[in-house]
Amino acid sequence: GPELFSPERVNSKGFDLTHAPTLDLIEKARAPWASHGWNAAPLLTQDASPLAPESVINPSDLTSVGQVSPASESDVACALTAATLWDAPASTRAAALNKAADLYEENYGELFALLSREAGKTMLDCVSELREAVDFLRFYASRIPKDTKPAGVFTCISPWNFPLAIFSGQIAAALATGNAVLAKPAEQTPLIAYRAISLLHEAGIPRSALQLLPGGGSVGASLTSDKRVSGIAFTGSTATALKIRASMADNLRPGTPLIAETGGLNAMIVDSTALPEQAVQSIVESAFQSAGQRCSALRCLYLQDDIADGVLTMLKGAMDVLNTGNPWLLSTDSGPVIDELAQEGIAAHIETARTEGRILKQIQAPAQGTYVGPTLIEIPGIAALEKEIFGPVLHVVRFQSSDLDQIIADINATGYGLTFGLHSRIDDRVQYVTDRIEAGNIYVNRNQIGAVVGSQPFGGEGLSGTGPKAGGPNYLARFCAPDRQHSNA
Ligand code: GLU
Repeated sequence: GPELFSPERVNSKGFDLTHAPTLDLIEKARAPWASHGWNAAPLLTQDASPLAPESVINPSDLTSVGQVSPASESDVACALTAATLWDAPASTRAAALNKAADLYEENYGELFALLSREAGKTMLDCVSELREAVDFLRFYASRIPKDTKPAGVFTCISPWNFPLAIFSGQIAAALATGNAVLAKPAEQTPLIAYRAISLLHEAGIPRSALQLLPGGGSVGASLTSDKRVSGIAFTGSTATALKIRASMADNLRPGTPLIAETGGLNAMIVDSTALPEQAVQSIVESAFQSAGQRCSALRCLYLQDDIADGVLTMLKGAMDVLNTGNPWLLSTDSGPVIDELAQEGIAAHIETARTEGRILKQIQAPAQGTYVGPTLIEIPGIAALEKEIFGPVLHVVRFQSSDLDQIIADINATGYGLTFGLHSRIDDRVQYVTDRIEAGNIYVNRNQIGAVVGSQPFGGEGLSGTGPKAGGPNYLARFCAPDRQHSNA
């Protein structure tokens, strides 16, 4: 609706990476953190008794980035007991969230270093992730609904692929509406989570309303089965979301909200009227930026037969000049995948395609670090993909114009519905296809990643999530208790 574009909402400016003096500024700001070792532990109101520290590893060179002490069972119990609703007036909550956004921006050098070293993010990814985190904080601060009550204690479980933006977005929404938050960051990225929580506390959010519980599946299991939990925000795999749903059904009150953003099997259709240069740029960005580790990323590209050879030639050329390597270097376009387990899973998928003779192109990746070279694989149709491959692997299908209805049916039949891209210069066809594709975020004649808070609320349908969309006008309502009606006779 038009309220999305209200004049008071201004997205973070970010950094212009084409401006040399800006690059110098960034280099200077992150230099002190180039070999810093961070420590993370549960951030509780009471003394924590965390488990023995574990090393956090930089995926690009396998060096240590710091240490995390995961939350113990007694830390989780303590956190649940200490959790207290944030009962400050809405204006105070908004001011603290805005202050936190300012602190994030002031600390960009350290946050960029953490994003790069802990999560393998390129500079372009660092800039867009910090912007998104800051946008979430300010957007939710400006949208606190009137006369609502918080749901209670909210568990926020976030993924490693946006360890600052999605982590902060969930928390900001729950805090804006006055809940208490227990945040469990992804196991791979606890250090940036710890730093973010420290900044949120520094901005004035009480420790009793916001506690960090780093750890793995057992921490997540406790935080999604304890009766004191009144709501859950989760971003991660569809499989984990289904487990959380089952645990909620067994343990929590009926009607406890679950806001889940999950996986996708995202397609793009490029028809013979598309502008090839524009399509190729969109394809490369959608499939390979962030090493394909976005749930919005393009997985299956449909190319109309008449232009397929030309587009593939250009696409292979674009892949040749894609710089895959150390994300700390400003020249890098695509960094590592998050860890060895991810690397092995993606490599196994590629090896199967190789034995079947379906590899169209593969870029050599650095031997050290958990890299996967961007890869192009030909398949007969999206139905051949059994699961989401969360990495820099793009599948290509050729089609004839008479196949269009079948393709739309096949894409919808995956059951996912997150992003979809279309390149076509025929208005009627754009209308026809976008009317029929079931996906939360549809992009025409552009890339299909990088939804912008406030103008492109993000979230999917079906297996891709529950809604409401993050960064949209309806998100905060889901963090509130049901309305109370007073009727007087
Ligand atoms: N919002 C991100 C985008 O539009 C993707 C979020 C995710 O990967 O979970 O690219």
